Amino acid sequence: MEKIITKAFPMYNPIGEEEAQAAAAVVRTGILSDFLGKHSEKFGGGKNVLELEKNWAEYHHVKHAISFNSATTALLAGLGALEVCPGDEVLVIGYSMCISATAPLFYGAIPVFVDIEEDYYCMDPVKIEDKITPRTKAILPVDLFGQSSDMVKINAIAKKYNLKVLSDTSHAPGCRYHEGFAGTFADVGVYSLNQHKIIHCGEGGIAVTNDDEIALRLQLIRNHAEAVVDDMGYYNLTNMVGGNYRMTETEAAIAIEQLKKLPALIESRINLANYLSEKLSKLEYLTVPKVRENAEHVYYLYPLRYDEDKAGLCREQYVENIRKLGIPLYRLAGGYIKPLYLEPIFSKKEQLKHGYPYRLLKDNEQPNYSRGICPVTEKFYDKEFIVTAYTYPPLTKSDMDDIVKVFDKAATMR
Ligand SMILES: *Cc1c(COP(=O)(O)O)cnc(C)c1O
Repeated sequence: MEKIITKAFPMYNPIGEEEAQAAAAVVRTGILSDFLGKHSEKFGGGKNVLELEKNWAEYHHVKHAISFNSATTALLAGLGALEVCPGDEVLVIGYSMCISATAPLFYGAIPVFVDIEEDYYCMDPVKIEDKITPRTKAILPVDLFGQSSDMVKINAIAKKYNLKVLSDTSHAPGCRYHEGFAGTFADVGVYSLNQHKIIHCGEGGIAVTNDDEIALRLQLIRNHAEAVVDDMGYYNLTNMVGGNYRMTETEAAIAIEQLKKLPALIESRINLANYLSEKLSKLEYLTVPKVRENAEHVYYLYPLRYDEDKAGLCREQYVENIRKLGIPLYRLAGGYIKPLYLEPIFSKKEQLKHGYPYRLLKDNEQPNYSRGICPVTEKFYDKEFIVTAYTYPPLTKSDMDDIVKVFDKAATMR
């Protein structure tokens, strides 16, 4: 079979000369990090960290932005700041990067899986109330693939049951939603700045909140709270064991430059994805991503649904054909990722029943992590999803045309 795409697509690389110079300028000062883990001027970090946080908050129209050394640590601090405690239940989705579901375990809390929407692939608000129990403390939706969860409905449920909301917005920095931005409608929203994200500084994360006390708690957990609270005179000690979750000055300087590039990077992604969607929607066996009303999708990833019956070809064969025609798909074998509750840390919970943190629960309170608990997620994983990452600059509309040719041709290869 002759390939349609003969050259590998260029890698995505948002880093340029501006970042190189910003990093070099920090290195020349000799101060690569400017935090002190005590109640002092340096408790909140150095010049670049503070500037990044100010710029991030302004950009996203939110009161506080707190930088971290990853989104992982920002999510952990978020749960801590929201006073999630041992035995609490946290509602999560099973179709995301692992920390979106494992984070509660760090506080001895119990992840409870909620299925995702058929149309937009984020946590399905319709399925949340069924999962709420007297132990439920927080909801942790993920702005999957680059668009906001349905925060209007999720916040209404949170209000009704007095729950906290922590949004994992790693995929959607700068993404418009209603009158604001994805991530800022939750009690805490978290963005990732790791190497693979739309903008990055190698490793990094940002947590945002409009609440002054939550902002302080995030800072405390980031930077050795236990050694700070007494001198600071802060005495809500729940979860006030801190870590070193601090971002370096070098990373912050790079992230400052990256944030300036975010609007243009998002615009290119949206243009490429819209163009691709227009063409691919003509293939009757594909469903292109749908964008929520009054919101934007920034296409960190570009998810397609594939209808085996309409195409008359199983997904694995179709994907294999696509690969033969020259497109290395993001997740080759199956739809995106294995549902997280099928990973051993959850699925082999029987072994952990007497271990951490499940020993806190009686037998009849143990969560269900078996196949079948999230049928939509499983259907996408088993049969329907094909996720690509090729809606980034410097790819062009002509590259999108090639992708369309491949997706069309692949269905004819038996
Ligand atoms: C990348 C990612 C994370 C973790 O980000 P790090 O900065 O690597 O810790 C969390 N959640 C989602 C959805 C992600 O894609």
